[in-house]
Amino acid sequence: MVNQVNPTNPGSDMIGILGGTFDPIHYGHLRTALEVAEHFGISDMRLIPGKVPPHRPQPHASPEHRLAMLQVAIASEPCLHADDRELRRDGYSWSFDTLESFRAETGNERPLLFTLGFDAFQHFQTWHRWQDILQLAHLVVVHRPGYSLPPEGWHMPFLSENPDDLRTTPAGRIYSLAVTALDISATNLRTRLKTGKNPRYLLPDAVLGYIQRHQLYCGT
Ligand code: ATP
Repeated sequence: MVNQVNPTNPGSDMIGILGGTFDPIHYGHLRTALEVAEHFGISDMRLIPGKVPPHRPQPHASPEHRLAMLQVAIASEPCLHADDRELRRDGYSWSFDTLESFRAETGNERPLLFTLGFDAFQHFQTWHRWQDILQLAHLVVVHRPGYSLPPEGWHMPFLSENPDDLRTTPAGRIYSLAVTALDISATNLRTRLKTGKNPRYLLPDAVLGYIQRHQLYCGT
């Protein structure tokens, strides 16, 4: 588990961040994390499970189980790292607090790339301290191929189409990235598990094995 930022060469290495409930983690999350990392050449992509996510129902599996599933899912992929900082904090898992804790470790120069789906981005202006989030990190808005961000709106002054803009500045740009469309959701996986349908090939076998061993998602 990675909790500390490697202090070598600060300011030149980007850190990618993908938060979520990961209840359970599936191939939609994993492809997104990997494709963002690959697109920018990021060797340190953090997957951060939220403890008490705001704006949505609370997770079904415990924080410990969600972290363990994440760890087995990414065990063989060197650029993906499980980061448990939100699980160690009490109260709501505000992204602002998470990014501030990164800044406390990295200083102000290192580029942070905060990844979120287009659905989440549409409500970004309702997020706790959203303007301050843009002071702390870049936003990478991921969406299915063929879509793009609307050509007008509040985000336009921040929009960048050049990955180098995000490499050479620590925060404040919004970048739109098409990733492989996988119509998989944790909600659908939980329903499958609860109703005895086979969820194989929607999530790693190692995660499914963990779910079965611990009898997760089979109750109400
Ligand atoms: P739930 O169905 O419980 O709401 P979820 O499958 O949407 O869960 P989250 O943990 O809420 O998963 O998502 C974490 C992040 O991963 C979000 O930024 C979300 O946009 C993104 N994400 C979720 N599913 C996919 C997918 N199939 N493809 C790409 N990105 C995804």
